[in-house]
Amino acid sequence: MHRGRLMGQFDKPEQTARPGTFRRVVAFFRPYWQQIALVLVAILITSGLGLINPYLLKLIIDTAIPQRDMALLNLFVGLMIVVPIISGLIGVGQSYLSNVVGQRVMRDLRNALYAHLQRMPLRFFTSTRTGEIQSRLANDVGGIQQVVTSTAATIVSNIATVGSTIVLMAAIDVQLTLLSLALAPIFLVVTRRVGALRRELSTSTQRSLADLTAITQETLSVSGVLLTKTFGRQREATERFATENERLAGLQIRQQMIGRWFFMVINVFFSITPGLVYWVAGRSIIGGDTELTIGSIVAFTTLQSRLFFPLGQLLNVHVDVQGALALFDRIFEYLDLQPEITDRPGALALDPDRVRGRVEYDHVSFRYDSAPPGSDGATERPLALNDVTFTIEPGQLVALVGPSGAGKTTITYLLPRLYDVTSGAVRIDGHDVRDVTLESLGRIIGFVTQETYLFHATVRENLLYGKPDATQEEIEAAARAAAIHDRIMELPDGYDTVVGERGYKLSGGEKQRLALARVILKNPRILILDEATSALDTHSERLIQAALQPLMRGRTTIAIAHRLSTVLAADQILVVDQGRIVERGTHQELLARDGLYASLYRAQFVTDDAPATLNGGVLLDEEVPAAE
Ligand code: ADP
Repeated sequence: MHRGRLMGQFDKPEQTARPGTFRRVVAFFRPYWQQIALVLVAILITSGLGLINPYLLKLIIDTAIPQRDMALLNLFVGLMIVVPIISGLIGVGQSYLSNVVGQRVMRDLRNALYAHLQRMPLRFFTSTRTGEIQSRLANDVGGIQQVVTSTAATIVSNIATVGSTIVLMAAIDVQLTLLSLALAPIFLVVTRRVGALRRELSTSTQRSLADLTAITQETLSVSGVLLTKTFGRQREATERFATENERLAGLQIRQQMIGRWFFMVINVFFSITPGLVYWVAGRSIIGGDTELTIGSIVAFTTLQSRLFFPLGQLLNVHVDVQGALALFDRIFEYLDLQPEITDRPGALALDPDRVRGRVEYDHVSFRYDSAPPGSDGATERPLALNDVTFTIEPGQLVALVGPSGAGKTTITYLLPRLYDVTSGAVRIDGHDVRDVTLESLGRIIGFVTQETYLFHATVRENLLYGKPDATQEEIEAAARAAAIHDRIMELPDGYDTVVGERGYKLSGGEKQRLALARVILKNPRILILDEATSALDTHSERLIQAALQPLMRGRTTIAIAHRLSTVLAADQILVVDQGRIVERGTHQELLARDGLYASLYRAQFVTDDAPATLNGGVLLDEEVPAAE
């Protein structure tokens, strides 16, 4: 049992934490100080109780047996049985309490972290790997529980055990105590060396495991498999895996064997020390120049055996503590990130029902920030938007057109404050969006992206995300308007069919219509529409078209337009190129101008008979029926 405990501490690679972390950790534990105090008391009691049995041994051997006193013998043996039961029960209670504290602190940390991440701007997520965020939320926070329930308790209990044991040993015989302690350094040196070796191996093993996981993830994901198969690289992938796998196996064998050797040395050591004590003490007794009794020697050696493991653990405790603090550090690092886009004090909550929907971009320039959060390399990026100015009257449709990378998406991101302008201002009904609460912005603006994201939930739940209190009638009306109701009714469970990543597979066009229904249900005053560029079959395309008409009607709409029907319907077309608006006007005006728009249009439409593209996407012919 000791072996596992002792070895466990070597399995973590050595990490270092930043200064000041400890104080912050303490703050997280402060609400639970009462439970923690109880745990400490319990630990002190159990380590005190641990001393009783060796002492009872002495009493039995020196008193009860020589005096042939059955009553005393019964009493001592009875106590020998009762004491471990009591101490065991206290131990169980202590584990329960420290688990409770550990889990509560983890819960608090997870909540704090999740709430904080929800407030982080989009920029944070575009520049951080998703796996990284999930890992901090799951693994790092999880690792902390270990600290609380085991490390902290172990340290205290080891100190208490070592301290009380030495005191009692000294009470029995000071010389023998000094002899035992003189041997301790040898044990400690061995422990330290093995500890260092194991940590080294463990770091390599973890790296190897991580490599193996990375290979697996890369090559066994859907896209990875597709790539491997289509390039015919299965053999290389298998070989790469086998090589890394071989390395891992070797490392793990070495790790196990070091543990085994260590255990052997320790066992020998454990026979040598009592042997020495018996020899020294026995010699004195035989020589008759001591008051030591046989019972004292037995009690002494029993106590001595309690000493070494706690000592060994204490010697390596800094590794555990450092590792734990480093875990906390990784979490604090995230908690310390500033959510740059937040409500300013006294921000205005615009009433979604009263907003007229006048949108104004006033000399807006924007630069995607240089350094992603957490990194320190600052590279200045060019302006993604440069002096963009336009106004959309309530209910109007503005179409953004231009080559890929021109800045169209970026323009749309500034309205719901996914990013904030670098200079200039974006206004809704004359209010700078930075003065409006993010929540009300979210209610006023509907965003339809190219990539439709559906939750792993039923169709109904996905739709309700747009309006949590919608009735079934409202849901169906929205689905009808988005030309998806009939399709939903054909699904195995109708509106209760589970869709999303692992649910019922809807086609791209169906997903888009479902997303449109969700926005129709939300009924935002302002609509941002990024028309999908992915080619749909003509039928789906017509259905989407049909869904879009009622959606845009009566709302202020900014559309990143890929359909000719959209640009034709636009009150104003803004032609964006390299972050600037280079042309503006209606379709006819822009054609007459014979500039970038005209050349884009000619390149995509006039030369092609087939459905053509404007921004690289599909454009239909003009006679798409308006849906009613
Ligand atoms: P469009 O929608 O017209 O294709 P975008 O608005 O997506 O263009 O991009 C405009 C410019 O901003 C491009 O040069 C692009 O590389 C850059 N850009 C887009 N997103 C980011 C980002 N998250 N970080 C840094 N640069 C970006």
